[in-house]
Amino acid sequence: MPRFHCPTPLQTGDVISLPAGAARHVQVLRMQPGGAITLFSGEPNHGEFEATIEHMGRSEVRVLVGAHSSVERESARQVHLIVGVPANDRMDWLVEKATELGVASIQPVMTERSVLRLSGERADKKRGHWQAVAVAACEQCGRNQVPVVHAVLGLNAWLAANKGKHEGNSEQLRYLLSLRPETKALSTLVGQSSAAVTFLSGPEGGLSTAEEDAALAKGFQAVSLGSRVLRAETAGLAALTLFTV
Ligand code: SAH
Repeated sequence: MPRFHCPTPLQTGDVISLPAGAARHVQVLRMQPGGAITLFSGEPNHGEFEATIEHMGRSEVRVLVGAHSSVERESARQVHLIVGVPANDRMDWLVEKATELGVASIQPVMTERSVLRLSGERADKKRGHWQAVAVAACEQCGRNQVPVVHAVLGLNAWLAANKGKHEGNSEQLRYLLSLRPETKALSTLVGQSSAAVTFLSGPEGGLSTAEEDAALAKGFQAVSLGSRVLRAETAGLAALTLFTV
Protein backbone atom coordinates (compact mmCIF):
# COMPACT_ATOMS: atom_id res chain seq x y z
CA MET A 1 0.00 0.00 0.00
CA PRO A 2 1.44 3.44 -0.88
CA ARG A 3 2.59 5.33 2.20
CA PHE A 4 2.68 9.09 2.49
CA HIS A 5 4.17 11.51 4.97
CA CYS A 6 1.36 13.83 6.02
CA PRO A 7 2.73 16.39 8.48
CA THR A 8 -0.65 17.45 9.86
CA PRO A 9 -2.65 16.21 12.89
CA LEU A 10 -4.33 12.92 11.94
CA GLN A 11 -7.37 11.42 13.64
CA THR A 12 -9.57 8.46 12.71
CA GLY A 13 -12.84 9.66 11.14
CA ASP A 14 -11.49 13.01 9.92
CA VAL A 15 -11.76 14.01 6.28
CA ILE A 16 -8.67 16.00 5.29
CA SER A 17 -7.08 17.52 2.21
CA LEU A 18 -3.63 16.07 1.78
CA PRO A 19 -0.75 18.54 1.97
CA ALA A 20 0.65 19.52 -1.45
CA GLY A 21 3.53 17.03 -1.47
CA ALA A 22 1.45 13.97 -0.64
CA ALA A 23 -1.39 15.14 -2.95
CA ARG A 24 1.00 15.43 -5.90
CA HIS A 25 2.37 12.00 -5.16
CA VAL A 26 -1.14 10.46 -5.13
CA GLN A 27 -1.90 12.21 -8.45
CA VAL A 28 1.29 10.88 -10.01
CA LEU A 29 0.30 7.35 -9.00
CA ARG A 30 -3.08 7.97 -10.75
CA MET A 31 -4.97 6.69 -7.74
CA GLN A 32 -8.76 6.78 -7.77
CA PRO A 33 -11.47 7.44 -5.17
CA GLY A 34 -11.81 4.32 -3.03
CA GLY A 35 -8.06 3.71 -3.20
CA ALA A 36 -6.34 2.81 0.06
CA ILE A 37 -3.21 4.53 1.33
CA THR A 38 -1.23 4.75 4.58
CA LEU A 39 -0.48 8.11 6.22
CA PHE A 40 2.02 9.03 8.93
CA SER A 41 2.46 12.45 10.48
CA GLY A 42 6.10 11.95 11.46
CA GLU A 43 5.46 13.04 15.07
CA PRO A 44 7.24 10.87 17.65
CA ASN A 45 5.20 7.76 18.50
CA HIS A 46 2.18 8.68 16.38
CA GLY A 47 2.31 5.48 14.35
CA GLU A 48 0.38 5.38 11.10
CA PHE A 49 -3.20 5.52 9.80
CA GLU A 50 -5.07 3.76 7.04
CA ALA A 51 -6.89 6.22 4.76
CA THR A 52 -9.25 6.03 1.80
CA ILE A 53 -9.27 8.48 -1.08
CA GLU A 54 -12.65 10.25 -1.26
CA HIS A 55 -12.07 12.89 -3.87
CA MET A 56 -9.47 13.57 -6.54
CA GLY A 57 -9.58 17.20 -7.68
CA ARG A 58 -7.20 18.97 -10.04
CA SER A 59 -4.71 19.45 -7.29
CA GLU A 60 -6.74 18.65 -4.19
CA VAL A 61 -6.86 15.14 -2.81
CA ARG A 62 -9.34 14.50 0.00
CA VAL A 63 -9.12 11.40 2.14
CA LEU A 64 -11.04 9.79 4.98
CA VAL A 65 -8.64 8.90 7.79
CA GLY A 66 -9.24 5.32 8.96
CA ALA A 67 -7.84 2.96 11.55
CA HIS A 68 -4.78 3.91 13.57
CA SER A 69 -1.87 1.57 14.22
CA SER A 70 0.74 2.47 16.81
CA VAL A 71 3.42 0.49 14.96
CA GLU A 72 6.94 2.00 14.87
CA ARG A 73 9.83 0.58 12.91
CA GLU A 74 12.66 2.47 14.57
CA SER A 75 16.00 0.99 15.49
CA ALA A 76 16.20 0.03 19.17
CA ARG A 77 19.36 2.09 19.33
CA GLN A 78 19.68 5.77 18.42
CA VAL A 79 22.48 6.24 15.93
CA HIS A 80 23.44 9.75 14.80
CA LEU A 81 25.68 10.46 11.84
CA ILE A 82 27.92 13.50 11.39
CA VAL A 83 29.26 13.37 7.89
CA GLY A 84 31.66 15.40 5.77
CA VAL A 85 29.35 15.99 2.81
CA PRO A 86 30.46 14.07 -0.29
CA ALA A 87 30.07 15.84 -3.63
CA ASN A 88 27.63 15.15 -6.49
CA ASP A 89 24.58 13.07 -5.74
CA ARG A 90 26.49 10.85 -3.32
CA MET A 91 24.98 12.69 -0.35
CA ASP A 92 21.44 11.97 -1.64
CA TRP A 93 22.35 8.33 -1.77
CA LEU A 94 23.83 8.45 1.73
CA VAL A 95 20.73 10.15 3.20
CA GLU A 96 18.41 7.63 1.54
CA LYS A 97 20.36 4.56 2.65
CA ALA A 98 21.05 5.89 6.16
CA THR A 99 17.31 6.50 6.60
CA GLU A 100 16.51 2.95 5.48
CA LEU A 101 19.11 1.65 7.92
CA GLY A 102 17.44 3.51 10.78
CA VAL A 103 19.61 6.58 11.37
CA ALA A 104 18.20 8.90 14.06
CA SER A 105 19.67 12.13 12.66
CA ILE A 106 22.18 13.36 10.11
CA GLN A 107 24.46 16.35 10.61
CA PRO A 108 26.14 17.40 7.34
CA VAL A 109 29.45 19.16 8.00
CA MET A 110 31.97 21.12 5.95
CA THR A 111 35.58 20.24 6.64
CA GLU A 112 39.04 21.44 5.56
CA ARG A 113 39.14 19.06 2.63
CA SER A 114 35.49 19.22 1.61
CA VAL A 115 35.20 19.23 -2.17
CA LEU A 116 31.69 20.59 -1.97
CA ARG A 117 31.52 24.06 -0.39
CA LEU A 118 28.10 25.04 0.88
CA SER A 119 26.93 28.10 2.74
CA GLY A 120 24.03 30.55 2.98
CA GLU A 121 21.01 30.03 0.78
CA ARG A 122 22.53 27.17 -1.18
CA ALA A 123 23.21 25.26 2.02
CA ASP A 124 19.61 25.83 3.19
CA LYS A 125 18.27 24.61 -0.12
CA LYS A 126 20.41 21.50 0.01
CA ARG A 127 19.30 20.78 3.57
CA GLY A 128 15.67 20.98 2.46
CA HIS A 129 16.41 18.66 -0.45
CA TRP A 130 18.13 16.09 1.79
CA GLN A 131 15.26 16.27 4.29
CA ALA A 132 12.86 15.49 1.41
CA VAL A 133 15.05 12.53 0.43
CA ALA A 134 14.76 11.26 4.04
CA VAL A 135 10.96 11.66 3.92
CA ALA A 136 10.75 9.70 0.66
CA ALA A 137 12.92 6.96 2.15
CA CYS A 138 10.60 6.77 5.20
CA GLU A 139 7.59 6.44 2.90
CA GLN A 140 9.30 3.58 1.13
CA CYS A 141 10.82 1.67 4.05
CA GLY A 142 7.99 1.93 6.56
CA ARG A 143 9.47 4.32 9.08
CA ASN A 144 6.94 6.61 10.72
CA GLN A 145 9.54 8.88 12.27
CA VAL A 146 11.58 11.01 9.92
CA PRO A 147 15.25 11.45 10.82
CA VAL A 148 16.21 15.12 11.05
CA VAL A 149 18.76 16.39 8.56
CA HIS A 150 20.35 19.33 10.39
CA ALA A 151 21.53 22.58 8.81
CA VAL A 152 25.03 22.37 7.31
CA LEU A 153 27.72 23.40 9.81
CA GLY A 154 31.50 23.66 9.85
CA LEU A 155 32.94 20.66 11.71
CA ASN A 156 34.74 22.99 14.12
CA ALA A 157 31.50 24.83 14.85
CA TRP A 158 29.78 21.52 15.61
CA LEU A 159 32.61 20.44 17.90
CA ALA A 160 32.55 23.81 19.67
CA ALA A 161 28.77 23.65 20.19
CA ASN A 162 28.57 20.05 21.43
CA LYS A 163 30.04 19.25 24.79
CA GLY A 164 32.30 16.24 25.20
CA LYS A 165 32.17 13.65 28.00
CA HIS A 166 34.77 15.41 30.12
CA GLU A 167 32.63 18.55 29.89
CA GLY A 168 29.72 16.80 31.58
CA ASN A 169 28.00 15.32 28.56
CA SER A 170 27.59 11.65 29.40
CA GLU A 171 24.61 11.14 27.15
CA GLN A 172 26.22 9.25 24.36
CA LEU A 173 29.10 7.39 22.82
CA ARG A 174 31.10 9.12 20.12
CA TYR A 175 33.09 7.27 17.52
CA LEU A 176 35.40 8.76 14.91
CA LEU A 177 35.61 6.58 11.80
CA SER A 178 39.31 6.74 11.12
CA LEU A 179 42.02 5.28 8.94
CA ARG A 180 44.68 5.83 11.60
CA PRO A 181 46.82 2.73 12.09
CA GLU A 182 46.22 0.56 15.13
CA THR A 183 42.70 1.82 15.61
CA LYS A 184 40.24 -0.43 17.42
CA ALA A 185 37.83 -2.31 15.14
CA LEU A 186 34.28 -0.97 15.45
CA SER A 187 32.93 -4.52 15.28
CA THR A 188 34.51 -5.30 18.67
CA LEU A 189 32.41 -2.55 20.27
CA VAL A 190 29.03 -3.80 19.07
CA GLY A 191 26.74 -4.96 21.86
CA GLN A 192 28.77 -3.43 24.69
CA SER A 193 26.02 -0.96 25.42
CA SER A 194 22.72 0.17 24.00
CA ALA A 195 23.35 3.89 24.58
CA ALA A 196 22.87 6.37 21.78
CA VAL A 197 25.90 6.63 19.55
CA THR A 198 27.26 9.35 17.26
CA PHE A 199 29.55 8.56 14.35
CA LEU A 200 31.77 11.11 12.63
CA SER A 201 33.09 10.33 9.15
CA GLY A 202 35.10 12.45 6.76
CA PRO A 203 34.43 13.62 3.19
CA GLU A 204 36.17 12.03 0.17
CA GLY A 205 39.45 13.77 1.02
CA GLY A 206 39.29 12.52 4.62
CA LEU A 207 39.59 14.62 7.80
CA SER A 208 42.82 16.48 8.48
CA THR A 209 44.99 15.40 11.42
CA ALA A 210 44.01 18.60 13.23
CA GLU A 211 40.30 17.83 12.73
CA GLU A 212 40.71 14.27 13.96
CA ASP A 213 42.63 15.52 16.99
CA ALA A 214 39.91 18.09 17.71
CA ALA A 215 37.28 15.33 17.59
CA LEU A 216 39.34 13.10 19.90
CA ALA A 217 39.65 16.02 22.34
CA LYS A 218 35.84 16.22 22.34
CA GLY A 219 35.42 12.63 23.50
CA PHE A 220 35.34 10.82 20.18
CA GLN A 221 37.08 7.45 20.16
CA ALA A 222 38.81 6.48 16.89
CA VAL A 223 37.47 3.25 15.40
CA SER A 224 38.21 1.29 12.24
CA LEU A 225 35.96 -0.40 9.72
CA GLY A 226 38.76 -2.59 8.40
CA SER A 227 41.79 -2.33 6.18
CA ARG A 228 40.08 -1.04 3.03
CA VAL A 229 39.53 2.66 2.34
CA LEU A 230 35.77 3.13 2.08
CA ARG A 231 34.15 5.94 0.14
CA ALA A 232 32.80 8.81 2.21
CA GLU A 233 29.22 7.61 1.65
CA THR A 234 30.06 3.98 2.45
CA ALA A 235 31.78 4.44 5.81
CA GLY A 236 28.79 5.87 7.72
CA LEU A 237 26.47 3.26 6.25
CA ALA A 238 28.80 0.41 7.21
CA ALA A 239 28.90 1.76 10.77
CA LEU A 240 25.09 2.03 10.86
CA THR A 241 24.58 -1.58 9.84
CA LEU A 242 26.59 -2.68 12.88
CA PHE A 243 24.57 -0.64 15.36
CA THR A 244 20.98 -0.57 14.14
CA VAL A 245 18.47 -3.40 13.93
N1 SAH B 1 41.55 9.83 0.88
C1 SAH B 1 41.05 9.79 2.19
C2 SAH B 1 39.99 8.75 2.30
C3 SAH B 1 38.80 9.26 2.98
S1 SAH B 1 37.52 8.09 3.07
C4 SAH B 1 42.15 9.52 3.19
O1 SAH B 1 43.10 8.85 2.82
O2 SAH B 1 42.05 9.93 4.33
C5 SAH B 1 36.27 9.06 3.80
C6 SAH B 1 36.02 8.84 5.27
O3 SAH B 1 35.46 7.55 5.46
C7 SAH B 1 37.23 8.89 6.16
O4 SAH B 1 37.52 10.22 6.56
C8 SAH B 1 36.78 8.04 7.35
O5 SAH B 1 36.01 8.81 8.25
C9 SAH B 1 35.90 7.01 6.70
N2 SAH B 1 36.55 5.72 6.39
C10 SAH B 1 36.83 5.21 5.18
N3 SAH B 1 37.37 3.99 5.28
C11 SAH B 1 37.41 3.70 6.60
C12 SAH B 1 37.86 2.56 7.36
N4 SAH B 1 38.38 1.49 6.77
N5 SAH B 1 37.74 2.62 8.70
C13 SAH B 1 37.22 3.71 9.32
N6 SAH B 1 36.80 4.80 8.66
C14 SAH B 1 36.88 4.79 7.32
